[in-house]
Amino acid sequence: MNADCLFCKILAGEIPANRIYEDEFCIGFPDINPQAPTHLLLVPKEHIASQAKALAEHKPLLGHLMATAADLARTQKLDKGYRVVVNTGDDGGQTVHHLHLHLLGGRPMGWPPG
Ligand code: C5P
Repeated sequence: MNADCLFCKILAGEIPANRIYEDEFCIGFPDINPQAPTHLLLVPKEHIASQAKALAEHKPLLGHLMATAADLARTQKLDKGYRVVVNTGDDGGQTVHHLHLHLLGGRPMGWPPG
């Protein structure tokens, strides 16, 4: 838990979020500012500031997050496809400095991303 971290506060229940998914390692909830008809965030319970701070010991957790995103996409019936995004650092557009996956779907995605 990082006292200054928004997602740590959500994890601690200090800030409300509609947890549509939770297990031992992560929670999933809708993004407050959705960029697609389906836009969920998958947030690990461990505070890791960004993808750039992930270490070898985090590999099982990172795999769990990816596999859970696939489960959530199936639950959300994103049968035509979807995008998983991990914004990392300033140039990556990261605004909340607690590693998280965006799961976006329900519309065609453009490429390259902005
Ligand atoms: O990748 P990035 O760090 O920019 O993503 C943070 C996401 O957290 C944003 O998409 C923002 O809308 C979302 N957010 C949220 N609930 C909050 C604050 C931010 O879902 N209370």
